[in-house]
Amino acid sequence: MPERLFGTNGVRGVVNEDMTSDLALQMGKAIGTVMGGALAIATDTRATADMIKTAVSSGMMSAGVNVLDLGVLPTPAIQYYVKTHDNVKGGVMITASHNPPEFNGIKCISFDGTEASRKEEEEIEAHYYKDIPCAPWDSVGDMDRIRGAGEEYVDAIVSKVDAESIRKAGLKVCLDCANGAAYETTPLLLKKLNVKAVTVNCNPQGGSPGRPSEPTEENLRDLISLTRSTQSDLGIAHDGDADRCVFVANDGSFVSGDKSLALLSKYILSKNKGLVVTPVSSSALVEEIVKGSGGEIEYTAVGSPIVARKMIATGAVFGGEENGGLIFPEQQYCRDGGMTVAKMLECIVKEGPLRDQISGFPVYYTVKKKIECPNDMKKHVLEHIANESTGATIDRTDGMKVVFDEGWILARPSGTEPIFRIFSESKDEEVAKKRAEKYEALVREYLN
Ligand code: MG
Repeated sequence: MPERLFGTNGVRGVVNEDMTSDLALQMGKAIGTVMGGALAIATDTRATADMIKTAVSSGMMSAGVNVLDLGVLPTPAIQYYVKTHDNVKGGVMITASHNPPEFNGIKCISFDGTEASRKEEEEIEAHYYKDIPCAPWDSVGDMDRIRGAGEEYVDAIVSKVDAESIRKAGLKVCLDCANGAAYETTPLLLKKLNVKAVTVNCNPQGGSPGRPSEPTEENLRDLISLTRSTQSDLGIAHDGDADRCVFVANDGSFVSGDKSLALLSKYILSKNKGLVVTPVSSSALVEEIVKGSGGEIEYTAVGSPIVARKMIATGAVFGGEENGGLIFPEQQYCRDGGMTVAKMLECIVKEGPLRDQISGFPVYYTVKKKIECPNDMKKHVLEHIANESTGATIDRTDGMKVVFDEGWILARPSGTEPIFRIFSESKDEEVAKKRAEKYEALVREYLN
């Protein structure tokens, strides 16, 4: 493991290769020492959940911290538990989100339910590499099994939407949980909202996820055909730890995360004008719909904790990412897959079928490229791109975004790998393609 343990989403690795019980134990000691207690812990459904959870818990208890084991939960459900229980000083979620089954990960949650800040992570990292003193035998922590955290989370969601209207509508949906963490909570949520659900991949089988847990169109073939054949009002899909949610429309067409972010922005702004926060990588569709709905847009660097913190600082009414990770301030400042389900149900009950609502949206085309680039050259490449882009607007919020009269390109160096990613978007497919090729050539020429 490198000096920097934490990536953008906690510490992740292949189990028993780099994500070992030794690492988990030492992480537990460091987390317990830095955060104090009590600390909550939960897992998704991965086959290795118990091994990692018990090692982390043992480390935390050895540091004198009481551990509350919440069982299998979506990431936003443990976040909600930590936020709403004053005796809980923080939490740990054992998940590798959408990564393949051989991965697992450790993600830290602050006392207020938000993802741990980089400062907290650095403190934990600093302790991780030290010899951590243990608590004396008579003050080690103990472990309590807590039941009902999932239902607390679901009830909180129900209280934040117009549940009566949803119940009366008698909707029918198809649900795909990737056999992941939402296998109990989202069916329970739908039941409480009187929504009839046909389920697929809703068994807690971490070793055999049923489908790759990234909710892309490609991976949701079963859900798409099921939604179509059952003539359901909506198809709903989570990633493995259910902090995200994407949809299939009532005609069986896949709805990209950009579109659901844009649509829910429009719906939320129709009641509550204000700011919507999203990373610079999001489609201009979001900005166009937000502005057309009387709202304003604020861009951030890529990463959901960054979006969440900007939302807190600005008092934004809504925010989220193009991958289906949406943040509802009335519930909590983190991506919340369950809340996304409930809000979308309310939106179609009030405003009509999903297909009709998005059919008028303008069409944008995106082209993505990946270029190898040595880490020490990344800064120079960015400057080269800026120099070659005279006349356009340069935005350095994250990497280099070059905004043209119509469309934009974003060049982002990876934080972990020696690569550059180039995104090009335009309403004109040909322009998006040509621009992506032009900037790819620009970077390659420079590197040669
Ligand atoms: Mg996730």
